[in-house]
Amino acid sequence: PFTPQDEWTAPGHEPLVLVGGEGAWLVDAGGRRYLDGNSSIWTNIHGHRHPRIDAALCAQLERVAHTSFLGFANPRASELARQLAGFFPPGTLERVFFSDDGSTAIEVAVKMAIQYRQQAGEQERTGFLAFDRAYHGDTMGASSLGGVPRFSERFRRFGFPVTHLTGMDDLRSLPEVVVETTAAVVIEPLIQGVNEMRPWPAGMLRELRGWCDRAGVHLILDEVMTGFGRTGRMFACQHEEVVPDYLCLAKGLTGGYLPLAATLTTASIYDAFLGGAERTFYYGHSYTGNQLGCAAALASLEVFEEEDVLGRLPARIESLRAVLADLRHPWVYDRRQCGLIAGLELREPSGDPFPADRRVGEEVCLAAREFGLLTRPIRDTIVLLPPLCVTPEELGQAGEALRQAIETLSLIH
Ligand SMILES: *Cc1c(COP(=O)(O)O)cnc(C)c1O
Repeated sequence: PFTPQDEWTAPGHEPLVLVGGEGAWLVDAGGRRYLDGNSSIWTNIHGHRHPRIDAALCAQLERVAHTSFLGFANPRASELARQLAGFFPPGTLERVFFSDDGSTAIEVAVKMAIQYRQQAGEQERTGFLAFDRAYHGDTMGASSLGGVPRFSERFRRFGFPVTHLTGMDDLRSLPEVVVETTAAVVIEPLIQGVNEMRPWPAGMLRELRGWCDRAGVHLILDEVMTGFGRTGRMFACQHEEVVPDYLCLAKGLTGGYLPLAATLTTASIYDAFLGGAERTFYYGHSYTGNQLGCAAALASLEVFEEEDVLGRLPARIESLRAVLADLRHPWVYDRRQCGLIAGLELREPSGDPFPADRRVGEEVCLAAREFGLLTRPIRDTIVLLPPLCVTPEELGQAGEALRQAIETLSLIH
């Protein structure tokens, strides 16, 4: 995935083979250790081989790994749904629909939003709004909402039409006819991940909620990256006291152990699916409500409590801030941070972007490996998004690895 095949299959290419992990560290086939600087593509929360989650999975295996959720229930999924809904004020996000990945969590929200409007007598509301440079996943529906040209342009005419906006100003100047025919607007709250870790202006989410309420448009929040403590609160929307109409969760839901996703919604949306078999939501995946995945997710939520994970975050977020501030080099153009999510943008000392074909971001990450840090850039922005269990000392090591990588490369270039 996301890997040029010529390079992958080039005769000299030695893929990095990862065979183990412990806490914030990964181990390769040669026994070398790397700090997991992007939480294994933004999934891992409490570290690898966490005893509590490992034990929960072993215990679940003594019962059963997976049973169908199509018309059946299982205790793990029921309990997980109850706990997820419990994070939000009573009378808000009370209903949970399980699926497998971030992309499917988005597909669920989109299909539910369409069918809801049909069944609520608002057939004219068929449109979707999304933001430029947004990323919501790679399935056809999710990528229709996406706004990163190099991922979605090729497929644009095969997906469904979406109106893309740059920000709140665009939203406010939408023609009335567009507003009245819109089902929902989707956004990554507080920070756009794939858009090189770019935070939204403070207060924007609350403004968007207000606009949605006035316009009768539903708000879909994609918290696939920001959920589960990554921004300093359990969910990013809690920073601005916003509750969406649909909340999409995946990546960190199982602590980064297994693919599992959830789309939360309100009772009033749920109720539009009552009143006869023709109102059935014909949507589901074979592994919906997977018991192992739900067991891992429940154990991950327990770890949040037992280890006071959220209470310990502010100090770690400050350490990350200090590490970024210490990274002073003519190539460091910008430091962007939201909680334990950071992007370090590299440019020419003149402030101009590096030519794309120099692939500076990739080279820096490759060099950082030699100094014990594993991460993946987005173009020339180096992502630092460690597991929440990362210590200030480990953050310091990550910063040091990046400093050495940048210095080594800038001497060659
Ligand atoms: C990763 C991501 C997705 C897609 O999730 P997958 O599990 O990779 O399908 C969607 N939205 C955001 C914000 C993401 O970061």
